[in-house]
Amino acid sequence: MGLFSKIKSGLQKTRNALAQNINSVINSFTKIDEELFEELEEILVLSDIGCVTAEEICGELRAKVKKDGIKDPNEIKMLLREIVSEMIEGDCSLRLSTTPSVILVIGVNGVGKTTTIGKLAARLKAEGKSVMLGAADTFRAAAIDQLGVWAERAGVPMVKGVEGTDPASVVFDTIASAKAKGADVIICDTAGRLHNKKNLMDELAKIHRIIERELPSSDKETLLVLDATTGQNAVNQAREFKNVADISGIVLTKLDGTARGGVVLAIKNELNIPVKFVGVGEGIDDLQPFDATEFASGIIDTEE
Ligand code: GDP
Ligand code: MG
Repeated sequence: MGLFSKIKSGLQKTRNALAQNINSVINSFTKIDEELFEELEEILVLSDIGCVTAEEICGELRAKVKKDGIKDPNEIKMLLREIVSEMIEGDCSLRLSTTPSVILVIGVNGVGKTTTIGKLAARLKAEGKSVMLGAADTFRAAAIDQLGVWAERAGVPMVKGVEGTDPASVVFDTIASAKAKGADVIICDTAGRLHNKKNLMDELAKIHRIIERELPSSDKETLLVLDATTGQNAVNQAREFKNVADISGIVLTKLDGTARGGVVLAIKNELNIPVKFVGVGEGIDDLQPFDATEFASGIIDTEE
């Protein structure tokens, strides 16, 4: 399956839900008027795009319709697609030019961090990079084992400690091992089970200090993993994490299982953090680089 079709098929539920609603609104109007915009805005809000962003999209839509003198409601979908695409555009590349470079993966429990790391390791390895994983989610032995399974699947080494080890010390050991072996990219898993914000802040700060101290001039990425099925809750999580960590990009997982893909727009527009990858399944190949144009055509069907 090609790149386009993977994203597109991953977005099927979102597309179907949106298309049905958008079509029924558009088909019930013969000309474009204020009522049409209001009904469209309602649909966008309901599809997890969020109030603020839905309002912005409709504002732009009004402006475009006016500027281009558009009269036919059927042309709205193409305009919507354009507006959405422009809104979510951004640089989705990872900065990994130094040897080693570091990717720290953060997010709450269950969003798909460990799975994403496995997929990302396989992807980077296929690009010719040597990857080393650090099992810094030391909260449960099972979490370490799970990353171990992914390390094997991706065919990359992993550094671990025993359950309950200080996560920062696992990060330290992973960096030391990566330096010794000349690895290109270090990817560190983290726990998402910290009881409160202070706890989380302290732990992430400590990990960051170790990375800065050991690799002062290396490229660093901090990827926040969010679960698309949680809709607006994912936006709230992003807001919380933005306060405690310097996030360089977002990975939005489980798009395949939800009609809430519109949440990408809220995340990008309200928080201004680029979405770098999307998860579209549980398999090793189911992580795709985010592409604004593909995404926009994946959620807004202009065929009917
Ligand atoms: P973590 O607690 O953040 O490390 O989350 P895990 O990596 O353990 O993932 C939690 C569950 O989500 C697992 O059952 C994964 O298989 C599943 N998962 C992760 N990413 C995706 C995705 O893109 N699509 C689907 N359908 N499931 C996913
Ligand atoms: Mg995990």
